[in-house]
Amino acid sequence: MGNITFTMIKPEAVVAGNTGAILNKIEAAGFRIVALKKIHLSKERAGEFYAVHSDRPFYGELVDYMSELPIIAAILEKDNAVADFRTLIGATNPADAAKGTIRAEFAESLAKNAVHGSDSDENAHIEADFHFSAEERL
Ligand code: UDP
Ligand code: MG
Repeated sequence: MGNITFTMIKPEAVVAGNTGAILNKIEAAGFRIVALKKIHLSKERAGEFYAVHSDRPFYGELVDYMSELPIIAAILEKDNAVADFRTLIGATNPADAAKGTIRAEFAESLAKNAVHGSDSDENAHIEADFHFSAEERL
């Protein structure tokens, strides 16, 4: 099991002023912030990031929403990072997210669900490399 995962705090959570509260929960759960930045993804970059979902019906809306306003991107370190972070954020649909999880607390809807979390060690590395150079990871 790998020790890094990649996350984004999604636009609606940033706009709502929940960045600090979400980062607090992440650090309180034992994750170390390896890299962190606020970025405004172009539509092209958002489309590339979510290319794995390009056949899904929600792809167009997802790309539009993730490129409409700035996000916070971060690499997080912890033992068993991918699985433990998915537990911390809760189910994709906040209606199904366990009490106390980040999505239960901060998500607005299935689409606007506050945070991204990598789904495998392989994708954690791909996604971290997509957003951060070696000099940005400390
Ligand atoms: N999403 C959506 N409708 C759906 C499923 C997913 O709008 O029916 C969005 C939602 O923002 C989700 C993202 O697409 O976080 C990626 O979907 P995935 O199935 O990978 O969920 P996640 O890994 O984020 O829990
Ligand atoms: Mg996913």
